[in-house]
Amino acid sequence: MEKIAVIGSGYVGLVAGTCLADFGREVICVDNNKQKIKDLKEGNIPIYEPGLDDLVERNVYYKRLSFTTDKKKAVEESEVIFIAVGTPPADDGSADLQYVLQVAKDIARHMNGYKVIVDKSTVPIGTGQKVKKVVQDILDERGVDYKFDVASNPEFLREGSAIHDFTHPDRVVIGAESEKAAKIMKDVYGVLYLNETPFVMTNIETAEMIKYASNAFLAMKITYINEIANLCEKVGANVQHVAKAMGKDGRISPKFLHAGPGYGGSCFPKDTKALASIAKDYGEIISLIETTVATNERQKSKMVEKIKNAIGNLERKTLGILGITFKPKTDDMREAPSLTILTELANLGVKLKIFDPEGEKEGTWRLSHIKENVEFCNNEYEACENTDGLVIITEWHQFRNMNLEKLKDAMKDYYFFDLRNIYERELVEEKGFKYYGVGV
Ligand code: NAD
Repeated sequence: MEKIAVIGSGYVGLVAGTCLADFGREVICVDNNKQKIKDLKEGNIPIYEPGLDDLVERNVYYKRLSFTTDKKKAVEESEVIFIAVGTPPADDGSADLQYVLQVAKDIARHMNGYKVIVDKSTVPIGTGQKVKKVVQDILDERGVDYKFDVASNPEFLREGSAIHDFTHPDRVVIGAESEKAAKIMKDVYGVLYLNETPFVMTNIETAEMIKYASNAFLAMKITYINEIANLCEKVGANVQHVAKAMGKDGRISPKFLHAGPGYGGSCFPKDTKALASIAKDYGEIISLIETTVATNERQKSKMVEKIKNAIGNLERKTLGILGITFKPKTDDMREAPSLTILTELANLGVKLKIFDPEGEKEGTWRLSHIKENVEFCNNEYEACENTDGLVIITEWHQFRNMNLEKLKDAMKDYYFFDLRNIYERELVEEKGFKYYGVGV
């Protein structure tokens, strides 16, 4: 069986490549970041993702998984080549395709026979056809007549549970134009196919749309419950109970119904903006998504208002900040709500004592514009020492069951902002804190 190449060894490419190797295929993970490949070769995993280090080690040991910066070798030795590079937002909100198209060109330059070029990055509808054209143009320039297929295979894994999500997906989506490519792609996921994972076999444009439609829907669901939460605060209702009861309705489901400081991360913010931008390009307006984008921005600032309304003048106040990554179990801070919240708090004169189990490295540079106001601490109790209050921004497990007496002893004043609703108001107030959740 021929090898698989995965170009782009970030959160998606590294997990996908490693899991495909664990399914028994020989996989070459490629990246143009030399340091990243050097680290991987030395057994150092450049991201924090639970379980990934063991899985990489095992598959490297069995020689199913290797790492290289050499695209030529990877392309020549593989029949299936995944593109898993970033698609960050351009200034106008559309997805920046430069990395995807660059990789497509690199593949075309090194092709030596039939290949299936698979887009795993989240890309605007129509990108598959662009990739096809870019590859064909270069083959024409080279004067060679290799056949190839382009396929779309969007990824739905979540950081923090990426390995489980990749190996136990709710569905595998494959967009292909030829029977041959569809069959090869089914073989790539043979293990899941045999396990009766639902497969959606469709055309490339539909596969591309499925990814955006899914992510935008989830972002909208979070935003919806956030708006309900804000109203709950005004009318004296409890959003936790509202969400629980709503979630019991099978048509709604309880997932993504947790009120909080707004969604963040490397996907929802950019994918919602990209979908709105694609719609505009085609003369359609997806107003629900445009509203979602704007409302989510507002939600982050509302958290700062909440703190300001409770404490009053924030100048020279000190707050213990618990959790800054965009969600627990990752070190990723791309578009994390903490970035907006902490910047606004710092601008109001607040000193921030931060603890995050995995976020310090990325937080140090992402918060460098407010570094005078930032101090990183070694644990949650140290972060709360001599503070006027604490703010839980990211619900790492270890913050769910803190020793409240120890916390209170360490603090100067007792404001307790639980932006993830992980504590019961009664319990916290009983200990003498002034509790503020979101919609509770
Ligand atoms: P990432 O930034 O973590 O990784 C991208 C990698 O590609 C980097 O290591 C970078 O060095 C490499 N790269 C860039 N240009 C290259 C080139 N020309 N040649 C070789 N390597 C190159 O990004 P990610 O989070 O893994 O996301 C990748 C894609 O997957 C995006 O489109 C994203 O929307 C999508 N996606 C991400 C997630 C997620 O949770 N992170 C989930 C589903 C889908």
